Amino acid sequence: MMIDNYIMIYKNLPFKINGFIMYDAEDNYYTIVLNSRLSFSENKKTFEHELEHILNGDFLKIKNVGIMEASMR
Ligand SMILES: [Zn+2]
Repeated sequence: MMIDNYIMIYKNLPFKINGFIMYDAEDNYYTIVLNSRLSFSENKKTFEHELEHILNGDFLKIKNVGIMEASMR
């Protein structure tokens, strides 16, 4: 299954945070935010974890805009 309703961006986040995901229910659009301070392989892991949630439709019950999940280290 291909998904193209997301954007992935890097932000300078605290070390404790792997990243987070935001969902805009109105547009059915996800923003995956990764931590630019972390390594490529750590970010890859976080990205794949969040992508898995999207593929599973884990966020579809949520009806508004906001942070769905913050992944802590
Ligand atoms: Zn999760």
